Amino acid sequence: MFFESTLKFAKSLDQQDPLNSFRQEFLFPDFHEKNLLYFTGNSLGLQPKNAKKYMLEELDDWQKYGVEGHFLSRRPWYSYHENLTEMVADIVGAKPIEVVVTHSLTTNLHLLMVSFFQPEGKRTKIICEAKAFPSDQYAIESQLNFHGLGLDNLIEIAPREGELLIREEDIIAKINEIGDELALVMIGGVNYYTGQLFDMKSITTAGHSVGAKVGFDLAHAAGNVELSLNAWGVDFAAWCGYKYLNSSPGGVAGMFVHEKHAHNSTLPRFAGWWGHNKETRFEMKPGFSPIPGAEGWQLSNAPVMGMAIQLASLEIFKKAGMSRISEKRNLLTAYLEYMILGVSERNKETCSFEIITPSDPTKRGAQLSILVHGKGKALFDALCEKGVVADWREPNVIRVAPAPLYNSFEDCYWFGKFLEAAIQ
Ligand SMILES: *Cc1c(COP(=O)(O)O)cnc(C)c1O
Repeated sequence: MFFESTLKFAKSLDQQDPLNSFRQEFLFPDFHEKNLLYFTGNSLGLQPKNAKKYMLEELDDWQKYGVEGHFLSRRPWYSYHENLTEMVADIVGAKPIEVVVTHSLTTNLHLLMVSFFQPEGKRTKIICEAKAFPSDQYAIESQLNFHGLGLDNLIEIAPREGELLIREEDIIAKINEIGDELALVMIGGVNYYTGQLFDMKSITTAGHSVGAKVGFDLAHAAGNVELSLNAWGVDFAAWCGYKYLNSSPGGVAGMFVHEKHAHNSTLPRFAGWWGHNKETRFEMKPGFSPIPGAEGWQLSNAPVMGMAIQLASLEIFKKAGMSRISEKRNLLTAYLEYMILGVSERNKETCSFEIITPSDPTKRGAQLSILVHGKGKALFDALCEKGVVADWREPNVIRVAPAPLYNSFEDCYWFGKFLEAAIQ
């Protein structure tokens, strides 16, 4: 693709962009007096305009019906999550029976590991990526503890000496090396720090070939990259709702359990009444009988307010479609990359930085992580000063994520201009 770093060129890309009008479906923050550039959809997505409407509808129905709203409201609360199932299944490449919107991400990771991390005999080890998101590290550590296993059972795959990204071949080699001692592979589908997208299909195949279970944390992947969890044969996955899925701070999360496990009621699990067979749930009798599929992992009745917000967001995803979102994401991210590299090229003497995210579009999503050598934090602060909302990660990385549903090519153009001005 041939790019130009002119406003006219950026605007022409926006004019040709079939998803350009989706920007109107979101509310942009305006806390900064200057024009604000929002590049943190990887941390907290923007508010869909319909979120408020759908929440108010639920408040109205609560007022009108009280407890009867569970069955009488326009979207009955007892089955509210079912409004989201098909749309979220499309986003992660799953069948409806394989997904449920419920709880929060770390909660779901725990619930799924309780079922799919079953150390037995010498098969006790877990593989994850080095520098995984801290919550995932703590969850894995405590799962090992829970089984009376030491941290020596946690095998972390790090980049090679002098490199910044993890080589997929190293993950596969380690899976094969650990072999019949490996119980579980649990990796972030897209790494939160570097933006590296892993080949989940190959990792799943490799894990299964040695008899291990394979699960992914899709916090940075869901709504960002195209996923085919069913076809890849992934055992389980979990994601949050508030990053690319724009479903409000701490908003309700999602989980995936492959259909091959849907009817296995012998899996160990931490159960709750909302995962119990719908026909007999209200008989309130002892003896847990799980709903087949992911719904069987639900614990509590649905947090309707959070789901109302997610409904607003998922409707936008449905209209836009993951394949068009992906196409725009590749072009938009490439244009942002081009702008950033141009700045780097012109300012070599004053400021040195590099993009550590893979340049191959099949190995990344919407995020670019800029590693700044020298005064990184000062550069980041100067960017904030200009109205750029990006994200700083210690010790020296600026993360920028152009979200294809609401970021424009013009945003990317201005990011480049502001970055250059911040350097000077
Ligand atoms: C954002 C994120 C989390 C956050 O977990 P919560 O339970 O939603 O607070 C966990 N893991 C990863 C990989 C993340 O990116």
